[in-house]
Amino acid sequence: MARTDLLQRLAAHTAAREHARLLRRLRIIEHADGPWLESGNRRLLSFCSNDYLGLAQHPQLVAALSRAARELGVGSTSAHLICGHRREHAELEEALAAWTGRERALLFSTGYMANLGVLQALLKEGDVCVQDKLNHACLLDGAKLSGAELKRYPHGDVPAAARQLAANPDAAALLATDGVFSMDGDVAPLPELAALCATEGASLMVDDAHGFGVLGADGAGSVSAAGLGQQEVPLLMATLGKALGCSGAFVAGSGGLVEGLIQFARPYIYTTAMPPALAAAALESVQLARREDWRREKLTALISQFRRGASELGLPLAASKSPIQPLLLGSAEAALAAAQSLEQQGLLVTAIRPPSVPAGQSRLRITLSAAHEEAHVERLLQVLETLKLDPPSRVGPGEAV
Ligand SMILES: *Cc1c(COP(=O)(O)O)cnc(C)c1O
Repeated sequence: MARTDLLQRLAAHTAAREHARLLRRLRIIEHADGPWLESGNRRLLSFCSNDYLGLAQHPQLVAALSRAARELGVGSTSAHLICGHRREHAELEEALAAWTGRERALLFSTGYMANLGVLQALLKEGDVCVQDKLNHACLLDGAKLSGAELKRYPHGDVPAAARQLAANPDAAALLATDGVFSMDGDVAPLPELAALCATEGASLMVDDAHGFGVLGADGAGSVSAAGLGQQEVPLLMATLGKALGCSGAFVAGSGGLVEGLIQFARPYIYTTAMPPALAAAALESVQLARREDWRREKLTALISQFRRGASELGLPLAASKSPIQPLLLGSAEAALAAAQSLEQQGLLVTAIRPPSVPAGQSRLRITLSAAHEEAHVERLLQVLETLKLDPPSRVGPGEAV
């Protein structure tokens, strides 16, 4: 028989990745205390979590989680549509809809599933899905799952998106973009994309995983910061696992959208509802994140401190005002070597390499958090200075694999 053995083929792919020195490895974190992590009996100052507001270990979140778990247990015991939908979920959905200025919100277990669910429920074969080339992997996967034609425009290139829509004037169309790009930290040109979608009769979807909680007046996100509402951005997705310090995600929009997702979004219907105690913790987090502007103010100050220092050192900063501050190093080897040197000096920063970013655009992905102090950023800059990082010979934004 000539049939390929699937496990052998997988092992060959893994071996090829190891040969290219691009193997990904798990690291066990034994203890976390704000930005301090313990791993392999070493204490490391971390600049790689997405806990932008420093809420993940907040005592009020922990208290809400344990209170609800004592009352309700741990598991939701079933999908939302069976008997898993509890009062904690409903209250959290109301709070998220109010915060984002949408009619309704619908919880999903993860952001990955929320994006799959929206795209699969809305799109079908014959439709067109236009996306920024640097969108998160799950938006690309959602489009593939839906059967629609996926077209990817160069990063941030609104005229190119316009051409792709104009080339398919009769197809139902959805344009999807990250609000804040996860590996670059820059913000999508949302007003221009909204205007384009209005002219072209396309629906605009924004994945605000990294903007929600961080941008906008009370942290309502990149869409709110751009002055856009439900009319201009009918499809808004954001996660609870980053700035909100919990886990899970939601989609917010019209009552009709949410009703339709409940009927047709398979990653919503056929999965266990998130633990209600987690929803209770997330509700507590929503209240803290909305109210405590000082977290965003502190974060903004740390971002400015880092950018000022890095630019004085001539480091290869990207054009990002968000807590995601990549240093573009070019080759995978350079990024990996820099991350290893940082770790030797007690700092944990991840090297991001292909296929997460295009070849030649490997980087250190530094993320800042309101849990950091000025002295932490100072320490990071001191260590970066000792690394003598060479800027890459050529780094252009946005040509994805
Ligand atoms: C993290 C992330 C997701 C996935 O969210 P999870 O809740 O972690 O599954 C989706 N989109 C973007 C842009 C992200 O950064």
